[in-house]
Amino acid sequence: MRWRYSVRMLYYTFVLLAFLVGAPAHGLDFSVSTNGVSISQDLQLDRSTSFEGLTVLNHGNILHGHDAMGSGDNKLLETVKGHRYQIDNTIDSSGTFSSTASTAASADFAAYSQDTRAGGDAGYVGTDAISSNNEMHLGTYFDGSGGNLDVHLSTGATEGGAIISGTANVNGIECYNDDISGILASGDLGRSVDGIYSATNGGVGTFGLNAVNLNAKTSGTTSGATSSPYLLTGYRWNTKNPKIQLYLNKANHPSSISDVGSVKSAIIASEGLWDASTSQALFASGIKDTTAQVSNKAPDYLNVHSFMPLSDARTIAYAQTWYSRSTVGGYYSALDSDVVYNTKFGWSFGGSGGSIDFQTIASHELGHTLGLLDLYTSDSSSKTQMMYGYYTGQKRTLGSGDKAGIQKLYGA
Ligand SMILES: [Zn+2]
Repeated sequence: MRWRYSVRMLYYTFVLLAFLVGAPAHGLDFSVSTNGVSISQDLQLDRSTSFEGLTVLNHGNILHGHDAMGSGDNKLLETVKGHRYQIDNTIDSSGTFSSTASTAASADFAAYSQDTRAGGDAGYVGTDAISSNNEMHLGTYFDGSGGNLDVHLSTGATEGGAIISGTANVNGIECYNDDISGILASGDLGRSVDGIYSATNGGVGTFGLNAVNLNAKTSGTTSGATSSPYLLTGYRWNTKNPKIQLYLNKANHPSSISDVGSVKSAIIASEGLWDASTSQALFASGIKDTTAQVSNKAPDYLNVHSFMPLSDARTIAYAQTWYSRSTVGGYYSALDSDVVYNTKFGWSFGGSGGSIDFQTIASHELGHTLGLLDLYTSDSSSKTQMMYGYYTGQKRTLGSGDKAGIQKLYGA
């Protein structure tokens, strides 16, 4: 009854239209509040963008929706606040985008549903739900020409609980779904996906997702000095000398890589790079064979490396890590970290030709497994790090920031 919508029940209708205005760019700030609930939007739109919003005040509740479509640079921020809950949503796009969203909100409850697509040079969708008992945060992105996002999410919050459900696909990879949502909602886990793809302009792009359910806000990532830059994901392997055992699933090995031994050798060399920079034994020696798949629905506690035929031919590789929300020394506890390499991509084992050097990618993805984030700033000290977010050719050594980061997490 509360959210049934009928013309007879309307007390007030407010329509916003901003269509193809011939100005360089247009912005719009909009807010409405009633009866202990408020919705505000801050829109920074390209002039090619059409935006249509509808707001209905009804018995002290707010129904609010928009349809937006355009290209260029667009940013849409929306906040819903009620009694001891809040929902924030951010869409930030450079390229084509479309977004249909609707919000139903009262003082006690809000649900924000969106179908958002973005393609082009960069796209980001971030949605956060905050209650008195928990917070759920989800951010998903691509950065590099030719990437795409396809997000269908419902973000809900009351004083008693916060939830994000639905699906998020980035470059055709399902990074979030209702299975993952259900596991995160149990309050114990977070999930991180970090990938790399070949951009249409000849460069390399990055994509990923981070989703976590929190009891309370955490301190966020730590960063290193500018001369030795690093960023932390917030998780690490919390067992002393974790001896992380990696597995290789050979089921989908591309025919171009006939020698499985060269794959294992490259991964072992990558393990050795990180192991040599700390006194802890980070990785177990040797790679075991497995038929287990990467853990898309729930952690299986096997760290599986696998070639897979990904639907997006430009995606090179990604790491996905499940972590527990329980902390040791302020860090979440990594549980299961898988790495996927796209069979549709050309791989090499010496960095020759125009193909991607397998060992460089394996070393980078293992940095994610261990708890390091990509570096995006294009200063010279960032570019020399293994965790630099863009592939710049073969790398066989860690940079000073990679070492500082791994020692921050596991000691010198
Ligand atoms: Zn990365």
